[in-house]
Amino acid sequence: MSSNNTEDHSGSGDMTSNKKECISCDQNNVNTITEGINKVDILSDMSTCASCGKEGNSNDMNTCNKCKSVKYCNAACKKKHRHKHKKACERRVAELYDEQLFKEVEPEECPICMLTMPHETNTSVFMPCCGKSICCGCIYAMKMSEGKDLCPFCRMPPASSDEYVVHINSLKNLMDKGNGDAFNHLAGCYADGMMGLIQDYGKANKLYLKAGELGCAQAYYNLGNQYCFGRGAEIDQKKAKHYYELAAIGGNVDARHNLGCLEGAASHDQRAYKHMIIAARAGYKSSLDRVKLGFMEGLIAKDEYANTLRAYQKRRKEMKSDERDKAAVSGIFSH
Ligand SMILES: [Zn+2]
Ligand SMILES: [Zn+2]
Ligand SMILES: [Zn+2]
Ligand SMILES: [Zn+2]
Repeated sequence: MSSNNTEDHSGSGDMTSNKKECISCDQNNVNTITEGINKVDILSDMSTCASCGKEGNSNDMNTCNKCKSVKYCNAACKKKHRHKHKKACERRVAELYDEQLFKEVEPEECPICMLTMPHETNTSVFMPCCGKSICCGCIYAMKMSEGKDLCPFCRMPPASSDEYVVHINSLKNLMDKGNGDAFNHLAGCYADGMMGLIQDYGKANKLYLKAGELGCAQAYYNLGNQYCFGRGAEIDQKKAKHYYELAAIGGNVDARHNLGCLEGAASHDQRAYKHMIIAARAGYKSSLDRVKLGFMEGLIAKDEYANTLRAYQKRRKEMKSDERDKAAVSGIFSH
């Protein structure tokens, strides 16, 4: 069992540029946004070729595969227009990327108590038996009611330290089924040299990447940290930022807060506060503190601060339960 780890590096990071270099490799995400833009009624779906101005049926036309926002009669028209379109295209791609980056993400719920998952360190545990992440409250309640360490979801006993092979095998089963959290967990075992594995950052980073691609936002956050602190790779703040962004898009608030710090350090105040506000609204205390500071310095309007504070309080309330409070004071998760 391992807990999610948090690495706050407020004030660290020395980003000097906010050029987005990795937009093109995020093609899937861009596609998702643009689908809506191009979806039109087939009967009245006429478009104009951006190159020669001829009208045609949108569905038969050639679309710019980067921005998906302009149409051409054919590949020849597209090629002819490429040079002229380049700047507008890049701008549109950046806009689409930002739309996705600054979107609030629905929080995850504990599969047992159905309450919003907390995101602090040691508040949830990934179970390799069934591949579920369970909140500390439900794990605590199980321990208290049965006096045993059974998985509250599938009731499997945990693998003891001399049975790490069992643990790794359950992980591999989940990985065969494409469970991103399992990839992330195994990556963590390699990063920390746990479960009888020899510490190997190279292996860990590969697994983090795969986990992220399978939808595990936490893994992208972990990978961002690896680049940020140079573990298994050269320190690379651009890559760190890229993976923090992918993590934030997937709903990871630690990554969102770090992005706020990185943008702030690069004097991109607007982008910094956008991140901090979203993270604060998701219940992240350090981000709320930054937003409050911004309000006191007159950089954030009173209404914006008040709304953020209310959203923060609401989310914190959704994350609270008696069991979670008891788990926190019991100290069983504080290792
Ligand atoms: Zn044309
Ligand atoms: Zn384009
Ligand atoms: Zn729970
Ligand atoms: Zn289980």
